[in-house]
Amino acid sequence: MFTKKDRPLGDEKQKRTELSELGEFGLIDRLTRDIVPKHSSTVKGVGDDAAVIDTGGRMLLLSTDLLIEGVHFDLTYMPLKHLGYKAAIVNISDIAAMNGIPKQMTVSIAVSNRFSLEAMEEFYKGIRLACSQYNVDLVGGDTSSSVTGLMISVTITGEADKEEIVYRSGAKAGDLICVTGDLGGAYAGLLLLEREKQVYKVNPEMQPELTGYDYVLARQLKPEARTDIRNLLKGIAVLPTSMIDISDGLASETLHLCKDSGTGCRIYEEKIPIDPDTQKLALEFNMIPTVCALSGGEDYELLFTIRQDDFEKIRDISGISVIGHMTVPSEGKLLITPDGKEVQLTAQGWDGFKNASATPDPR
Ligand code: ADP
Ligand code: MG
Repeated sequence: MFTKKDRPLGDEKQKRTELSELGEFGLIDRLTRDIVPKHSSTVKGVGDDAAVIDTGGRMLLLSTDLLIEGVHFDLTYMPLKHLGYKAAIVNISDIAAMNGIPKQMTVSIAVSNRFSLEAMEEFYKGIRLACSQYNVDLVGGDTSSSVTGLMISVTITGEADKEEIVYRSGAKAGDLICVTGDLGGAYAGLLLLEREKQVYKVNPEMQPELTGYDYVLARQLKPEARTDIRNLLKGIAVLPTSMIDISDGLASETLHLCKDSGTGCRIYEEKIPIDPDTQKLALEFNMIPTVCALSGGEDYELLFTIRQDDFEKIRDISGISVIGHMTVPSEGKLLITPDGKEVQLTAQGWDGFKNASATPDPR
């Protein structure tokens, strides 16, 4: 029912809570917390990397992501083809995080006349490349004009059998915490690109100093989704107990698994996998490399837990690191430093509402 109170900006006398007080996850929680699914086919609604829908046969996975110019990407250093590729990857990664197979994608764009046909074709080259590499069909979308920057909304479907879907909520105390690949590289790449942008702003004659940093640049500009992990784990008969993809940083994602599984954790800082190039660049920026991994984000690796009994199966697999274990909640969520100190694991990952510069009150 709509009432008189439903004016464009609500009732002025109503209490006003700043979104910055809530943060992204607080806002999602407030907006969605009492939603009860009406359909028995809605197996999982809000709260995981993708929704799970029972179609009668295999489960359908469904996920969406929104990318906004100036918030998620900066076209001064992000080539449009890379942007298209990345927009597809961040969605494919969410299907990988459910242990599913990506299938179809829709792409919606809002674009201003600042962009040419050729520019948008470059963007679509990136989308098409990702779709071809990950065996995904582009099946639709929507196109609108924009009075501000470029906006991209991608929705993806995936498939999986019911019993092979991995949720954020299945971890138990004692389970081992594993991560694929290495972390912090995408953030290191961003630091580098931001530095060169500042140099360029001061002196446009300066050529960017990007040689020798190929790895971290690729991590930032051309991330990949770990759809390979599903088969790798299947091949050694390991089904993770919980899983999430690392879009916001290892700390934030670990806390998600703990919250949704009702566990605590111990993460060993020295076990966090970091590439030597990431290490080198972080130190150049006077940053502790593990901070890039814990708080940086955008690596799109998978963080998952396995039963302790599965340790033997996974220990010699290259590209998977065991970085800690789940505990009972009363033991807290801890990061153990190399000298054995216990530190509270806190999420200082990307949070659009907290980092955003003050925008004028629409009223
Ligand atoms: P991810 O980082 O994997 O894309 P998010 O952190 O964006 O996941 O979202 C967490 C959960 O909240 C997901 O299940 C997502 O579908 C849901 N969600 C996010 N924003 C909204 C919204 N505005 N309305 C309803 N559900 C949302
Ligand atoms: Mg995700």
